[in-house]
Amino acid sequence: MNPNSICSNLSVAADGRTLLFAGHSATQLVEKYGSGLYVMDEARIRKNARVYVDAMREFFGEGSCPLFASKACSFTRMYKIVEQEGMGVDVVSCGELYTAKNAGFPMEKIYFHGNLKTDEDLRYAIGCGVGCIIADCREEVDAIDRIAEELGVRQRMMLRLTPGVDPHTYEAVATGKVDCKFGFAIENGMALEIFLHTLKKEHVDLCGFHCHVGSMVFDSDVYIRTAQIMLDFIAQVHTDYGFVTRELDIGGGYGVRYLADDPTIDIRANIAQVADEMKRMTAERNIPMPLVHMEPGRSIVADAGVTLYTVGAVKTIPGYKTYVCVDGGMGDNPRYALYRSPYTVVAADKLHEECDMLCDLAGRCCESGDVLQEGIYLPHSLERGDLVAVLTTGAYNYSMASNYNRYPRFPVIMVDGENDYVAVRRESFADIVLNDQ
Ligand SMILES: *Cc1c(COP(=O)(O)O)cnc(C)c1O
Repeated sequence: MNPNSICSNLSVAADGRTLLFAGHSATQLVEKYGSGLYVMDEARIRKNARVYVDAMREFFGEGSCPLFASKACSFTRMYKIVEQEGMGVDVVSCGELYTAKNAGFPMEKIYFHGNLKTDEDLRYAIGCGVGCIIADCREEVDAIDRIAEELGVRQRMMLRLTPGVDPHTYEAVATGKVDCKFGFAIENGMALEIFLHTLKKEHVDLCGFHCHVGSMVFDSDVYIRTAQIMLDFIAQVHTDYGFVTRELDIGGGYGVRYLADDPTIDIRANIAQVADEMKRMTAERNIPMPLVHMEPGRSIVADAGVTLYTVGAVKTIPGYKTYVCVDGGMGDNPRYALYRSPYTVVAADKLHEECDMLCDLAGRCCESGDVLQEGIYLPHSLERGDLVAVLTTGAYNYSMASNYNRYPRFPVIMVDGENDYVAVRRESFADIVLNDQ
């Protein structure tokens, strides 16, 4: 299989067998940095970011800006890269907020999400001068108002609404349905009620509304339906209460190609289409066009990452199945265990060989469920010491990593043109016991 069919930053070396990622040999990366390894392609991250930044500026106008959903991939260097590319960020915890702040990210371009922020979280965020907090429950609206008063500020805020759009995506990543745990439903009046409640608060500046219907969206129809419901609500509060919505955040996130069969989407053309429809809809409703934000996470980083593993064993259970066991697993990529996420797996030093062995790719955690992929084909000749690459792992892999079984977390190696550098160093055993008393 030609890995190039997944993403243009993947190719085969002149030897016909070695995977090149952004021109860097998988074998050499492992020789230099050890195994297993997350490798990320800085140029690809920048390119992906620029598509959104340019298209949003062009089609929605100056001030409309994509926010990198940093839960997809959160570490210091990432915040610097997306900042340089002109994105804002959204954070969903104070840990992410701290990382962004520590990276020097401009506070006014940070949007703070999450369905439950404690008083402590809010005090930290408001104290830091976070740009905007997206409130997800009534308790939060009250707490933001109270803490902003304590700190002597007026906090910019949005309300997270649920438009009731089912994005036809995986259940676990669908978040726009009325019965999901996030936000205030428009359909049953909860949104209007919290809007009126918020208007009474003196220490919050309600700048607009946010929604996020889910991930892995492949067609603009989902955003257009979402925008329509949000704009109906915005028109209603405009007509009935004279409220001008300055910002509308329509959430993330376009899909990416995990498998060669996944669709390719033209994000620029999609944004143009959504912008056109939204301009038409605001004109129709006689309301001013708000600043629009989108929150891509996955589509900024997913195809800018691969994970490299070393095969430790190929275990065949006659009459049943074959396991290819590697030096990683659910600790570095829990997504298959969590929601059966598909990935493309290649033999990174045997690309010339036919993939004729049906197998499961297993990790080394003490859990039967520690499987990275099932029912895939790899070469028969695979043996201890060979390299395996799981493709499209730039999103929700490093950021979801754990120390389960006390395995140190993999480093993140960034490649950039000819260069390669450590963006996150490999954890040591000393790191593992760092907090133990
Ligand atoms: C996760 C999330 C996103 C990003 O979704 P992607 O699929 O990674 O693009 C955006 N907004 C919110 C509120 C999210 O929770």
